[in-house]
Amino acid sequence: MPDPNGFLRYDRRLPARRPVPVRIMDWREVYPPAGEELIREQATRCMDCGIPFCHDGCPLGNRIPDWNDLVRTGNWDAAVESLHATNNFPEFTGRLCPAPCEAACVLGLGGQQPVTIKQVEVEIADAAVARGGLRPRPAPAPTGKSVAVVGSGPAGLAAAQQLARAGHAVTVYERDDALGGLLRYGIPDFKLEKHHVDGRVAQIEAEGVRFRTGVNVGVDVTAEQLRAEHDAVLLACGALAGRDTPETPGRALRGVHQAMAHLVAANRVVAAAGAGRPAAAALADGTPIDAAGKHVVIIGGGDTAADCLGVAHRQGAAGVHQLDLYPEPPTGRDAGRDPWPTWPWVLRDYPAHEEGGERVFAVAVQEFVDDGTGQVKAVRIAEVTVEKRDGRRIVTALPGTERELPADLVLLAIGFEGTEEQPLLRQLGVTRNARGAVDARPDWRTAADGVFVAGDMHRGASLIVWAIAEGRAAAAAIHAYLGGVGTLPAPVDPARQPLAAR
Ligand SMILES: Cc1cc2nc3c(=O)[nH]c(=O)nc-3n(C[C@H](O)[C@H](O)[C@H](O)COP(=O)(O)OP(=O)(O)OC[C@H]3O[C@@H](n4cnc5c(N)ncnc54)[C@H](O)[C@@H]3O)c2cc1C
Ligand code: SF4
Repeated sequence: MPDPNGFLRYDRRLPARRPVPVRIMDWREVYPPAGEELIREQATRCMDCGIPFCHDGCPLGNRIPDWNDLVRTGNWDAAVESLHATNNFPEFTGRLCPAPCEAACVLGLGGQQPVTIKQVEVEIADAAVARGGLRPRPAPAPTGKSVAVVGSGPAGLAAAQQLARAGHAVTVYERDDALGGLLRYGIPDFKLEKHHVDGRVAQIEAEGVRFRTGVNVGVDVTAEQLRAEHDAVLLACGALAGRDTPETPGRALRGVHQAMAHLVAANRVVAAAGAGRPAAAALADGTPIDAAGKHVVIIGGGDTAADCLGVAHRQGAAGVHQLDLYPEPPTGRDAGRDPWPTWPWVLRDYPAHEEGGERVFAVAVQEFVDDGTGQVKAVRIAEVTVEKRDGRRIVTALPGTERELPADLVLLAIGFEGTEEQPLLRQLGVTRNARGAVDARPDWRTAADGVFVAGDMHRGASLIVWAIAEGRAAAAAIHAYLGGVGTLPAPVDPARQPLAAR
């Protein structure tokens, strides 16, 4: 029974972020631990609704009111159990999820303050580590079946853990030198310190999963070899084909880069420093894309752009502009456009925005300007309007609005065009659809026999919570395909879409 007056007694409160001047001097996470008193108070705000709409916002089907009440009453061990019943990696989602559950929380109705669900989640996840660590749960008996998982992002890791716990022999193949997919070298440490990934990987390994890093499937081992060695294959290769702008004059200038090139380089340098290795050794070509002392222009308005912003400030950028094609969103939900409990279009202020830089809305780059030596020195922008016509985006520059912004380093964070075209797909006879994704049948199978797909590779660039949900669901389908006893949880089907009004 929840506290019926909790939300009347307490306002929504989050722990204070580390001060900006301190945190931009290091790469550690922005949020300190919340402390038990604050988190129990916040969990007390949950009303244990008859129809918990927060569930509809979350593809994992997390038992949110249950663990809110367990935290309120101090039952941490039971809260840890309840949270892990539906989510393999709450330490990732608790830190990184944009929290569609909070957008759907009943307490958020009418512009009020939803429960701090995500903060409660991360505190439970950390309590699991603090109270005895992430205990391995190996399967009681092997099934004699084996599964290859290609890709070690959250989708591949969630599927591997589910399948190993069901008794299957699982091998995860990862072309990078370290595990975690975008959690490892895409997302910076100030959002997710990598010991969280290491801790989870150690647990999964102790449950019997074999990891093979530095193996590019389709190149170092063929798809046929993989299929011959395993009873089923799961593709979880992500959606890493970065969108580009080849038609913009000056795109080939030095200093204009894909955002991921910048983020991966920065993450590798941080990882190398943590391991006591020189930064240059961390990069294949020895040249980090460093923002120190530079005027940086970031093109794009999403997670990737905000991560570039935080990295640029920590590297010591002289100044940063972040450009967005669309007009500035409202600060609160427009109920006419996105009624509760759908995901609203609102201005999202990431912690990186608090650290500096200027956001410029409703503009598009007309030209990357040459300094005369083949190096970018500025971007020429114009104010624009954007409309959708026949499903196509029409961007119109407004005459007389052009101006230049100084730029020694330009980062393109303008989205992803689906999964990469790579030899693995050709070898399997699997094609990318119009969105650049790989289609799944209702049972998560691709067009290739015994080959399944999950995560961003199927959905297109999305969220960690969806990758975990798809990894769990695909594992359930593979378990059934292999004739496994009983059923595994399948929180989503391939056609499931986020809760949206349009
Ligand atoms: C910069 C950035 C920041 C983000 N921030 C957030 C955030 O804050 N919150 C959030 O919810 N989401 C965020 N996302 C999205 C989130 O990271 C992804 O949705 C999620 O990681 C997808 O998981 P996945 O397992 O499907 O793929 P990925 O994490 O992309 O992993 C795919 C893996 O497959 C490997 N691979 C590919 N091909 C092969 C092959 N042939 N052989 C072997 N291995 C292969 C790749 O090396 C990679 O490690 C962010 C994305 C980016 C780019
Ligand atoms: S919708 Fe909000 S108040 Fe209701 S059960 Fe979920 S978290 Fe609690």
